[in-house]
Amino acid sequence: MSEFCLKTIGAPSLEELRNSAAFPRREDFMKGPIAVIECIEEIPCNPCETSCEKGAIIVGSPITNLPRIDFEKCIGCGFCVAACPGLAIYIKDYTYSEQEARISFPYEYFPFPQKGDIVQLVGRKGEKVCSGTVVGIQNGKKNDRTAIVSVIYPKIFFDEVISMERIKNKS
Ligand code: SF4
Ligand code: SF4
Repeated sequence: MSEFCLKTIGAPSLEELRNSAAFPRREDFMKGPIAVIECIEEIPCNPCETSCEKGAIIVGSPITNLPRIDFEKCIGCGFCVAACPGLAIYIKDYTYSEQEARISFPYEYFPFPQKGDIVQLVGRKGEKVCSGTVVGIQNGKKNDRTAIVSVIYPKIFFDEVISMERIKNKS
């Protein structure tokens, strides 16, 4: 087991995730934007399942089942990202371009980043990974106060990046 994991820092390691049923395999990432669920604790929760109009997320019964995704059905729409109370879902697109990948993750801080901003991207321990360029922010009513920020970043950091550093208030 790697030095950090769910038990030591409360965040799963890549190794733990790759052993979980919901985590995409390489070939799943090759088909375009897909949802990635980093939820590996058995808790009574299923908004991810009910938010997916494509029926791609399965929790089933009992409700403590870990969510699974049918990547054939997932279109990367992002509805499940805003619906997850644990902020445990993001969308990743390995096929964005030759050199860059795209990630769309939940963001619940003010101020929001703006399109075109260069932001610091972070990994599962909150560690700095690389910088990326904001290419979109979704903050519609359907998102229920959880904005979804989309950022493009170098593909060589594809697996490591899961979110961005919070932008500090200017005061
Ligand atoms: S991204 Fe859209 S289609 Fe894919 S699992 Fe989430 S809600 Fe369903
Ligand atoms: S909604 Fe989020 S926290 Fe709840 S089961 Fe789904 S992925 Fe896990």
